[in-house]
Amino acid sequence: MPSENDTIFAKIIRREIPADIVYEDDLALAFKDVNPQAPVHILVIPKQPIPQLSAAVPEDHRVLGHLLLTVKRVAEQVGLTQGYRVVINNGQDAGQSVDHLHLHILGGRSLQWPPG
Ligand code: 5GP
Repeated sequence: MPSENDTIFAKIIRREIPADIVYEDDLALAFKDVNPQAPVHILVIPKQPIPQLSAAVPEDHRVLGHLLLTVKRVAEQVGLTQGYRVVINNGQDAGQSVDHLHLHILGGRSLQWPPG
């Protein structure tokens, strides 16, 4: 089990592995998903290594709010004018595969509901 500072996303933040980064600020990084599930599939992550949403604490409220505003900003930046979906997979039953909180932005096509 990698430590929270040794996930693939921590390595992307540290520029140890490449990613197609579309936005960055002091608190957040956004980059294209390597295995896109829609024409636009971007991940927004905190630079602070919160492992998953259920591990967040009240002191994380600023960064959590910032992540949602970053989603909005990135969606506008990439031209998702017809809408988009924001997904957080939290834990095993949701299929979370990287232990660093990440918000998926999915768009560029009509999306089905409910997800599987
Ligand atoms: P999860 O299943 O945990 O909600 O989402 C993890 C996402 O990270 C997946 O959509 C997967 O394609 C993406 N991902 C995993 N490894 C990498 C990587 O090295 N680079 C990028 N850009 N995305 C990755």
